[in-house]
Amino acid sequence: NTDIRESMYLVSEFAAKYFQDVLVNSEEGKAIGLSYFKERGFTNETIKKFNLGYSPETWDALTKEALGKGYKLEFLESTGLTIAREDRPFDRFKGRVMFPIQSMSGRVLGFGGRILTNDKKAAKYLNSPESDIYHKSKVLYGIYHAKQSIAKQNNCYLVEGYTDVIQFSQAGIENVVASSGTALTPDQIRLINRLTRNITVLFDGDAAGLRASIRGIDLILEEGMNVRVCSFPDGEDPDSFARKNSHEDLVAYLENNSKDFIQFKASILMGEAKNDPIKKADLIRDMVTSISKIPDRIQREVYIQECARIMDISEQVLTSTLAQLIQKDI
Ligand code: ATP
Ligand code: MN
Ligand code: MN
Ligand code: MN
Repeated sequence: NTDIRESMYLVSEFAAKYFQDVLVNSEEGKAIGLSYFKERGFTNETIKKFNLGYSPETWDALTKEALGKGYKLEFLESTGLTIAREDRPFDRFKGRVMFPIQSMSGRVLGFGGRILTNDKKAAKYLNSPESDIYHKSKVLYGIYHAKQSIAKQNNCYLVEGYTDVIQFSQAGIENVVASSGTALTPDQIRLINRLTRNITVLFDGDAAGLRASIRGIDLILEEGMNVRVCSFPDGEDPDSFARKNSHEDLVAYLENNSKDFIQFKASILMGEAKNDPIKKADLIRDMVTSISKIPDRIQREVYIQECARIMDISEQVLTSTLAQLIQKDI
């Protein structure tokens, strides 16, 4: 129902403005939220560009303010901004810094909220729940600000988190979006596909990031898109790496370390597989499995040739393995 959804958009946009206002104009917002963002190296311009905000510690600051302005409790609840609690509804995001999540056309769909401490027990990020306007599998954080640059550069950098997007943008690399805490989905990839056929995956330099990159590769290939991967040093993510390097060094790093998926798989897995025939065979099978996801036959052939060259194995055996895998799919 479009009336209901419109009301949900309006209350979300109100909330984003409210959180922004609290961040820059209230004592609590300045002392806690703004100083947090400053510590992370965000400039005022960046904070404004991404509509970053702060949700006060108070039990129901936003809820009260919104109700006072005539927004209905029904929509505060259906967007997840307010959590119903008999006679004392309360703010979901209280005490967090706020990252509004915008659609391709710039409407506010939902929020991510980060705690300010490094308390390992509390959930670091809290996101809006699924709703009629927020489907987390169909949105990409940063797409509104990135879309022009993605089309112009004919490439999209895909990162994991909000702060990765923001730090890259501040470093002058604007063609970047984040899957933000969900495993990458086909719908998210199709959103990028409207702007470019090229994705470069930039996941965190840790075990989880590596696993997520490998999962992402096959999904991107299945959509008929080109995928490259650039890894970061151990323990770094795009945010921390961008902060430590100049714009020029960052651009150079991305250029020199982006690999196509065959080279990427070879580089991460080859170390252990080199002198072990069984492991090497598994790695080759894994590469051919990824190749089998590519819809275009000529592209598959090109990657088979590359795989044969890099892994030092005949094209013939790869081609017959590929044929078996594709057969199985039908
Ligand atoms: P920061 O730099 O602020 O510590 P990050 O973006 O590096 O955060 P990661 O732990 O690398 O955080 O996680 C990547 C992304 O996954 C986050 O940006 C967030 O969108 C999501 N995420 C992380 N932790 C949680 C959580 N506990 N609940 C929901 N989503 C989360
Ligand atoms: Mn991580
Ligand atoms: Mn990270
Ligand atoms: Mn980080």
